[in-house]
Amino acid sequence: AFSADVVPQAAEDPLFGLMAAYKKDDDSKKVDLGIGAYRDDNAKPWVLPVVKAAEEQLRKDPNLNHEYLPIAGLADFTSASQKLILGKSSQAIAENRAFSIQAVSGTGSLHLGALFLARFYNPPAPDAKTIYVSTPTWANHNQIFTNVKLPMKSYPYFSKETKGLDFEGMSSTIESAPEGSIIVLHACAHNPTGVDPTNDQWQQLAQLMKRKSHFPFFDCAYQGFASGSLATDAWAINHFVEQGFEMMIAQSYAKNFGLYGERAGCFHFIAAPASDASDVAARVGSQLTLLQRSEISNPPAYGARVAALILNDEKLFAQWEEDLRTMSGRIKDMRKALRSKLEEKKTPGTWNHITDQIGMFSFTGMSEQQVARLREEFHVYMTKNGRISMAGLNTHNIDYFADSMNNVVR
Ligand code: PLP
Repeated sequence: AFSADVVPQAAEDPLFGLMAAYKKDDDSKKVDLGIGAYRDDNAKPWVLPVVKAAEEQLRKDPNLNHEYLPIAGLADFTSASQKLILGKSSQAIAENRAFSIQAVSGTGSLHLGALFLARFYNPPAPDAKTIYVSTPTWANHNQIFTNVKLPMKSYPYFSKETKGLDFEGMSSTIESAPEGSIIVLHACAHNPTGVDPTNDQWQQLAQLMKRKSHFPFFDCAYQGFASGSLATDAWAINHFVEQGFEMMIAQSYAKNFGLYGERAGCFHFIAAPASDASDVAARVGSQLTLLQRSEISNPPAYGARVAALILNDEKLFAQWEEDLRTMSGRIKDMRKALRSKLEEKKTPGTWNHITDQIGMFSFTGMSEQQVARLREEFHVYMTKNGRISMAGLNTHNIDYFADSMNNVVR
């Protein structure tokens, strides 16, 4: 039944393939700039001190057991997640028109939202049941949305000339999309480019999307990790909520808590302000809960417990903010160092984009051939599109990397 013409061999996930190749390389100078996971200055995974403290507390809790969570997840976690992303004094929360459900990290939140949209989204223009993603975008978006058979299109995002935002291209495609199209937006620290709209550009996008009755679906995987400020990184989301959009948010805690493997995340639906808004949120919530039941029955407990402890405790929360500043600060230092080293070496090209871009990644502008040379001659591993994970750079390998990059760019 499963012959090769029916089930062809699937391609290996490029990122995980890259990781395996890096592991196999036994050169002592090797550098891993592939996967988007934070590393400390010794290139080691970093357990956030605040997470260690919360785990310690959890271990001492005599009432802890291994029962199922409710279908919608841990209530302390979902309500705190809502406040974190929408702000404590959010009108949407006060008016009871936000529904939040724990999901399997960012990926699972995106999937749940996509599944709901595929089943229930009924746009004003019949041809608007299409989901738009940026070019480029996080590669998994394509698979997540195709899996639920949502027709996909894309909007321009990255300008090869400026290595910044192609705001013109982005707005004109969003403008010409049929009314009520679904637009996926990276809330901050766009993956893979590290390029975000300015606040002014976000305001223009919101106006345009309002005029066209488009439906925003925010993917928020880096709140607090990008700028070091939780509020700054949620600015775009908060602006859209304030503008009264009906919208969705997929929230991941993988990067900002360093809880990659625990799969802690939350999905939020916000109904537009209206007299029946809380009914809309409740109805949508009931269907999301039903979908969740058949997908995963109930979400994983451990990461949500750790996150909930931190989010609901003033002292731990302050410690978390400190940890976020440590991670984002180290990445910003690496951006500055890389840019100044390339400029010192007079490496051909301009390098301001390294410090203009934000978050885990930088789109260096290197070509596929240059990336291949970096790997073959210099044991530096990164994705073919020239993206580097800034977290893979540290004070011990930055000189070697800048030298190698200088070599291949010349
Ligand atoms: N969305 C974006 C843009 C990402 O970069 C990531 C992780 O790399 C995710 C979502 C989802 O991550 P996770 O499922 O690990 O929370």
